Amino acid sequence: MELGKLTIKKAAKLLQEKQISAVELAKAYLEKLKQKEPELDAFLHVCEKQALAKAEEVDLKRQRREKLGFLAGIPYAVKDNILVQGMQATAGSKILEGYQASYDATVISRLKQADAVIFGKTNLDEFAMGASTEQSAFKTTKNPWDVSRVPGGSSGGSAVAVAANMSLFALGTDTGGSIRQPASFCGIVGLRPSYGAVSRHGIISLASSLDQVGCFAKTVEDAAIVFETIAGKDGFDSTVSPKAFYPGLSEKITKTLDLKKLKIGVPKEFFELGIDPDVKKLIESSIDWFMQAGAKVQEISLPHMKYSVPAYYIILPAEASANLARYDGIRYPLSKRGESDRGFREIYFKTKGRGFGPEPRRRIMIGTFCLSSGYYDAYYSRAQKVRRLIKSDFEKAFEKIDLILGPVSPYPAFRIGEKINDPVAMYLADIYTGLVNMASLNGLSLPCGFVEREGKKLPVGLQIIGKHFNEELVLATGHQFERGHAALA
Ligand code: GLN
Repeated sequence: MELGKLTIKKAAKLLQEKQISAVELAKAYLEKLKQKEPELDAFLHVCEKQALAKAEEVDLKRQRREKLGFLAGIPYAVKDNILVQGMQATAGSKILEGYQASYDATVISRLKQADAVIFGKTNLDEFAMGASTEQSAFKTTKNPWDVSRVPGGSSGGSAVAVAANMSLFALGTDTGGSIRQPASFCGIVGLRPSYGAVSRHGIISLASSLDQVGCFAKTVEDAAIVFETIAGKDGFDSTVSPKAFYPGLSEKITKTLDLKKLKIGVPKEFFELGIDPDVKKLIESSIDWFMQAGAKVQEISLPHMKYSVPAYYIILPAEASANLARYDGIRYPLSKRGESDRGFREIYFKTKGRGFGPEPRRRIMIGTFCLSSGYYDAYYSRAQKVRRLIKSDFEKAFEKIDLILGPVSPYPAFRIGEKINDPVAMYLADIYTGLVNMASLNGLSLPCGFVEREGKKLPVGLQIIGKHFNEELVLATGHQFERGHAALA
């Protein structure tokens, strides 16, 4: 079985036609996982027994001709900030070490209903704060294209699990780029759905007005299959809109879209900031491909883009400081109590001081400061105003165009250690992604070529940004590009 060429679509067909069994498929991927994991460190927990038992159940159900979901027998990995009943959920933090989820996140219940086979939990930057997966409290995940480089983050483990054929798809979360950027660094497809499209019930919250669950896959069609399975209304999360309804999406996106009718916007600001010249060339040649296919491409402007990262790094820490207040040393496993403790206050201090790594501590302090009386107006309210301006920049742009094209990241995968001591440099990695979250939109990252660094090929991603809830057009466009552009390469 050549795992490198397998997709969900192809594997599902092989399984349905009984050319392979779910157990055979699971074993092939588990073998690959065991072979690659020591070098790549993508997983925090692997549930081999459970995976094989589920695969057996799928085979049995098929034998008995019982009803099976489309993802029946398909192996997948889950970022460790998404709850799976009975399994650890650390969010990459010592403060949650030993915590076991007592229920399934809605996205997991839906995948269970679809009979997908879970392989385990993947590594991430602590509480999904980061852009390299180096900020996990447990280990640093490596980029499969060059193990001396980062896979991106914060969902680096999930991206690597798919890129290195350790599973067929993976779930991640994207609050400021954590799906799109690692997808770009690892050469796979990553979808950050619109705010309100997928339930966050059972997701360990980072910043509730920006968080969203999405997926990594090998192809755009595969990403659409996973997205349509997990999306839609949920009684446990009132932020999911009734508009988030995508029946038959994965089929619709493969029907030929008339690129000649497509109006594409390219923000001029995307190329004014320090973008790597090789990355720029690849993005420009991708835009050329669309022009040659007949799409109308025009320059647009997002004048407030330059304020996006500073505003994001006020809003996110403010919301994170509120969300992370629950890890108090009382309710979760880590509790640093001592003989001389004088009440809760001391336990709180000790537990948080030892349980949180440097990045959460930094953000909790920034967030608390920005929300404190006297500073609230100067920072938090102002950042919210900037957010509204960014939203209205997009709204104006979308009056003239259908979608936006641009880079995902200003550079390809950087070296492990290169930015770890410079938080601002790490924050600037979000320059092209964070604004999509600020405007509650959806964004797709898909491979558009390679650059060469020190003799190694490094993948680069193209970003397609769509109107709120218009994932269909984004995915259909991505699908066309993937077929047409790859054929040229
Ligand atoms: N790099 C961003 C941050 O550190 C991404 C966060 C995310 O999307 N989870 O905030």
